[in-house]
Amino acid sequence: MQYDPDNIFAKILRDEIPSTRVYEDDATLVFMDIMPRTPGHCLVIPKTPCRNVLDASPRQLADVMATVQKIANAVMPAFDATGVTVQQFNEADGGQEVFHLHFHVLPRHPGQRMGPPGQMGDMDEIAANAQRIRAALAG
Ligand code: 5GP
Repeated sequence: MQYDPDNIFAKILRDEIPSTRVYEDDATLVFMDIMPRTPGHCLVIPKTPCRNVLDASPRQLADVMATVQKIANAVMPAFDATGVTVQQFNEADGGQEVFHLHFHVLPRHPGQRMGPPGQMGDMDEIAANAQRIRAALAG
């Protein structure tokens, strides 16, 4: 399967469509999921093209996982979370909808169920949650 340079996350990387960014370094970008399944749900992506773990290079995977760990450690205090779910899907039959490698990071609380997929979040709430993660990263 070929990488489509016009997928929605490629457009976010190029700033062609808006996103709520929370962190970036030379190799990775983190932004809020627009349909959060828990408060604080965000996405970690490489800045370079690949569809998913099937075609990613070891370098891309290493860079993304380092940022996943950084963000997982930030969302714990940011949301007084007691756990973090990290999710990742590969190709349509693996549950993937956007074909640019991404890892979901979801802060979790005792007994809390994840919300259903596909429900637009409240943009003010998403912005406030992004700020909580930025503040935790700033330490
Ligand atoms: P997956 O490909 O892992 O199944 O899920 C793609 C994720 O991207 C979903 O959680 C969905 O809510 C999120 N998403 C889809 N379109 C957009 C968008 O335009 N902006 C942002 N920030 N997230 C999106």
